[in-house]
Amino acid sequence: MKTQTLSDEYWLACSSCKKTVVETQSYTTCPWCQQSLEVKYDYERIAEHFNVHVMKTAPMAATKYLDLYPLANLRRVVSLNEGGTPLYRARKLEKQLGLKRLWIKFEGSNPTGGFKDRGSLVELTKALELGAKTVTCASTGNMAASVSAYAAVAGLPCYIIVPEGTPLGKMAQTLAFGSRVVQVRGTYDDAVELTTGLSRMDGFFLAGDYAFRLEGQKSQSFEVVEQLGWRSPDLVMVPVGNGTNASAIWKGFKEFEWFGLTDSLPKMVAVQPENVAPIVKAFNQNEPLEPVVKPQTVAGAVCVGNPSDAHKLLAALRESGGSAATASDHEILEAQKWLAKTEAVFVEPAAALNLATLKNMLDAGQVDGSEEVVLVMTGTGLKDPTSALKVLPSPPSVEPDLAEVQKLLDYNYYKICADYNGSQSKGALITQALFEDQLLALIQSEFDVSPSKADVAFCVGEVNGFLEKGKHLTKNDLKLIVEEALQRGRLEYRALDILDFTVKTAKTQKPEATAKVRVHGKEVEKTAQGVGPVDAVINAVKKTVEGELAFELVDYKVAINTKNTDATVDVRITLEDEKRNKVTTMGTSPDIIVASIKAFQDGYNILYAKNQGFSK
Ligand SMILES: *Cc1c(COP(=O)(O)O)cnc(C)c1O
Ligand SMILES: [Zn+2]
Repeated sequence: MKTQTLSDEYWLACSSCKKTVVETQSYTTCPWCQQSLEVKYDYERIAEHFNVHVMKTAPMAATKYLDLYPLANLRRVVSLNEGGTPLYRARKLEKQLGLKRLWIKFEGSNPTGGFKDRGSLVELTKALELGAKTVTCASTGNMAASVSAYAAVAGLPCYIIVPEGTPLGKMAQTLAFGSRVVQVRGTYDDAVELTTGLSRMDGFFLAGDYAFRLEGQKSQSFEVVEQLGWRSPDLVMVPVGNGTNASAIWKGFKEFEWFGLTDSLPKMVAVQPENVAPIVKAFNQNEPLEPVVKPQTVAGAVCVGNPSDAHKLLAALRESGGSAATASDHEILEAQKWLAKTEAVFVEPAAALNLATLKNMLDAGQVDGSEEVVLVMTGTGLKDPTSALKVLPSPPSVEPDLAEVQKLLDYNYYKICADYNGSQSKGALITQALFEDQLLALIQSEFDVSPSKADVAFCVGEVNGFLEKGKHLTKNDLKLIVEEALQRGRLEYRALDILDFTVKTAKTQKPEATAKVRVHGKEVEKTAQGVGPVDAVINAVKKTVEGELAFELVDYKVAINTKNTDATVDVRITLEDEKRNKVTTMGTSPDIIVASIKAFQDGYNILYAKNQGFSK
């Protein structure tokens, strides 16, 4: 069969032992030494039909470069119009960084939001060429989304294996494109082993960071050369996981140089997160690569402990006279915010890693301010919104009341961010009781807001409540308390005050609770049972207000704030009355019952005010 034979223009060779490999036998790893494979070309033969005029005049798109892909059959190209992504001049960042020229190649505008679509174009076209019936792929998320999209277009069923906890956006895309997804309780490297096994046992086409994909990803450099007016920049920085993309980009520049479309080559810079930097270490220490076991970083797309294309990339870094550097997770998230705020480019953490590292390199004098730099911004921020939100303000909610909005503006309240480091175990912010002026000073320095005296007094009470229970407070705990204080202030009339409660639990009967409350100024005590202690207390409180207001508890959600021993819980309660007024409130405490009661009490009071028309 025609497609089973090698084309005359390309062949596969091992990147290590250099033996030639037949593509129908293996296109993933070398059958002899298990190293990664490379596509080699006979450029002289390609030059016979390579049309430089078309290259220079046709609109930019990944399908413009079919001559430079290892395709034997162009009758069925699997494409979603990938490529042709913008190259932005980052003028504000240039100024802030003290850099002559800075460009952002924004790969987030590809069909599934990342550069992998360029690789999927070639890889899934090859899958059809090689007669694949089913595709399988391991991924940290973006590869899953991209391969799934192209498998859908190619009409091939697709099995994806991802590590548990893969970001929301990437998971949603993958499932939407109809892939069958399995989450593994392990790392990306574990997922790779499993898909390799599936392809061996079941004959599935193994998609991923292999030789064909690399060829498609070269088009990023072709486009950069064109967008700069048929020349190369001084430096190209690429966030690195497996090292496939950075290797591809280097190969692309070399090919365009071969065809005379640029007369110089850039230096390549490999960028990895501080905690997952096997390639950076191997390069800078000039030692063999040492895999990172159980890698962990906020930049999930580059969380690869044992990079499959390390070999190729290390060679590319040396050949280009390039370098390698890192940034910390915190610097990554700050850079993500910074880039979006200055240039309106919202990228995922793995891409923001690039800007964070550029800053570190400039600070360390490893990059010269006179150099022209291209940052390959590999993926869009919408794929992993949860990471971005970790360092972005959490907007307060208000009633539709101008005075309330005004109050929040006066306090600069909208600036408050959940504290990224505080959510890790180290951040105990308050460990002993504080006076009001001390707490006010702390709130001002931590959040840049100035609550009123009454609000601070309320906060002191809440803080002491935590401390009496033997809990320390993180920045995030304090933030929630301040938020509660601000929201509490808004009610002039309080219909319900919960004064005290007790709960009795026994092995053989349902928990029973007694609640003592003040309803419209009158003390009432009621007892009720429930399926659990929280339920019993809420039922008892509900009984105390029976006949006052027709309402229902329509939603109850619990979230645990920290995973260490100082954990607190947020309880969100939604109450709805017969006029369809709906109120959601939150209570925070180390104790789930206390948190529930606070949320209920606030919710009831606001609902009552709405019901009676006190509040708009
Ligand atoms: C896949 C990916 C990377 C890493 O590319 P490698 O080829 O694995 O080095 C970086 N950023 C994003 C957004 C990715 O999807
Ligand atoms: Zn080999």
